[in-house]
Amino acid sequence: MGTMTVAAVIVAGGSGLRAGGERPKQYQLIGGKPVIWWTCRAFLGHPAVGHVQAVIGTGHEEMFAAATEGLEMAPPVIGGATRQDSCRIGIEAVARHKPAKVLIHDAARPFAAPDLIGDVVGWLDRFPAVVPGLPVAETLKFAPGGIVTRTVDRAAIWSAQTPQGFHYDSIVSAYRKAEAEKTQNLTDDASVAEQAGIAVAMIPGRLENRKLTTAEDIRIADQNMTASQYQSLPDVRVGQGIDIHPFWEGTAVTLCGIVIPHSHSLKGHSDADAAMHALTDAILGAIGEGDIGVHFPPSDPQWKGVASRVFLARAIALLEDRGGRLANADITILAEAPKIAPHVPAMKDYLSPLLRLGHDRIAIKATTTERLGAIGRREGIMAFATVTVRLP
Ligand code: MG
Repeated sequence: MGTMTVAAVIVAGGSGLRAGGERPKQYQLIGGKPVIWWTCRAFLGHPAVGHVQAVIGTGHEEMFAAATEGLEMAPPVIGGATRQDSCRIGIEAVARHKPAKVLIHDAARPFAAPDLIGDVVGWLDRFPAVVPGLPVAETLKFAPGGIVTRTVDRAAIWSAQTPQGFHYDSIVSAYRKAEAEKTQNLTDDASVAEQAGIAVAMIPGRLENRKLTTAEDIRIADQNMTASQYQSLPDVRVGQGIDIHPFWEGTAVTLCGIVIPHSHSLKGHSDADAAMHALTDAILGAIGEGDIGVHFPPSDPQWKGVASRVFLARAIALLEDRGGRLANADITILAEAPKIAPHVPAMKDYLSPLLRLGHDRIAIKATTTERLGAIGRREGIMAFATVTVRLP
């Protein structure tokens, strides 16, 4: 590729806890996929971009690997204490590709359109640094301590977006200069370029290229994307699944992927996760694909002791091969013991990325059978699942 190579650095180092939820915002689902999946795909799929490098937070390695499954991503690098540090690390990491231009983009902006990315790359032929932005429409007030002291002239005020583009050698030296001068907490890359005296051009950004910051931003983005996906999937199907496993000696049971300490374990060929087996059968049922025993015969030793997520992932893959998507999953577990309710949040968090459903589309309920029947005599655990799927 030589000197014209364009590299993209996706900055995903933040813990993003402002958005709430079980995981950082860049790993939360919108439209069935993690925010960062959409962001990385936008750059991987762009004809002008040769290399995509993600910078992630410490301890996020597993989440990142799961979130970008199926995308051909280079291994991520671990960011620093501040955004500025993380960007510098990401920029240094793409040096081996000898890029002429580098784009630096927030992981929390999943809606960077191909023409916006193309605009930034194109304008880099004329300027060493290019920032997309939007003219500020509201009147701006300067109000220290909540009291307005003056109105700010907004005539030339823009709000900055990403991807911000730079000539590679210029931004590398600007970052090294900032580090040498111990300039800290510059909140975007253009600021680093400005400090180094590099001319930064402002070009029109896109309204839809907003940064998802709050829990509300994530919820609205998910709702909009999901609604438009479901609109194109008019064939609505319902599936049901039932499973039961007996107790035997052991110290824990596995239900919906979560290991729960108990006086017994469940007997079965795999991990005996009755709830996940019922769920898998419900999905297979909705698409008329037989049941779990057809796809994973108990007579086949390769499935012995296997985690039931393998079965569930297969059912989801069969659904997605047909262009379908789950719409909801409702699971009921019948057990006298152990207590299920305290584990429901962890179960939902485990199932959510597998099912590609937000927590609000997954229900996990438990009931005893008032000591009636086999379940009431504590001989085992039974589970029921109902799902709705949407197909083209
Ligand atoms: Mg089973």
